[in-house]
Amino acid sequence: MSCPLCLDARPARHELDVHGSTLVRCRRCGLVRVDPLPTAAEAERLYDDAYFRDAERGYVDYVADERVFRSEFRRRLRVLARLGAEGRLLDVGCASGALLTEAKARGFDASGLEPAPATARRAAEVSGCPVSAVALRDALLAPGAYDVITLFDVLEHLVDPRAALRRLRLALAPGGLLAVTVPDYGGLWAHLSGSRWPFLTPWEHVLYFTRRTLTAALATAGFEQVRFHPACTPLSFGTLVAKSPVPAALVPPFLRHRGVGLPAGTLFATARSV
Ligand SMILES: [Zn+2]
Repeated sequence: MSCPLCLDARPARHELDVHGSTLVRCRRCGLVRVDPLPTAAEAERLYDDAYFRDAERGYVDYVADERVFRSEFRRRLRVLARLGAEGRLLDVGCASGALLTEAKARGFDASGLEPAPATARRAAEVSGCPVSAVALRDALLAPGAYDVITLFDVLEHLVDPRAALRRLRLALAPGGLLAVTVPDYGGLWAHLSGSRWPFLTPWEHVLYFTRRTLTAALATAGFEQVRFHPACTPLSFGTLVAKSPVPAALVPPFLRHRGVGLPAGTLFATARSV
């Protein structure tokens, strides 16, 4: 199976065995991926409404934890505003609409894509923004339709990052801004945690990016002016406990859906279409 980023066809190097899956590293570009990669249809099957409230598969309770995500989304939108972002914004993988709500409050003409149907409906109701209940692969995106596209914690789930990023570049107006976050496989947290890193979830995260491979992915898709920005990983205390060996009884119920933005663990890049 060739590398989904640089298409190198040589057998990749063994990286790690984790949760019954094998991760390998491309000999040419260094991208780490699950081996074998699922098909796009197999990968997409995971993203139904239950994904957002099932600790085993994805999130412990996304809606209950939304407050924690919203403060980090506000911080990221401030970064985009400093880069001059305004106008039509598409949030790919908008979940229950937290980013759409914050983007609308900042004056963006915001809309979203979310494949899980009930979650997409809730996002539209809560944010008042249009949301299409489709995967990125199936979305109808008119060329140049957006000034800003946010792709937060989505790229690591996709089996064909080249095709996805190229579609998004074409959907941006010339000079438009893509903002992407992924778990930072090259960061200190991942390095120190080894196979206990909480984002090593090969049934959902099929790709593992570093600064270098994320830069390469954006460049391969034709983006320019790749820049990295500080970002936090928003985690509720309930999720922290669910994903660590700490006993759940240590977190009182009123704190379960409150949390912090840990200043590590996430790569946040912006890039421009040309
Ligand atoms: Zn490669």
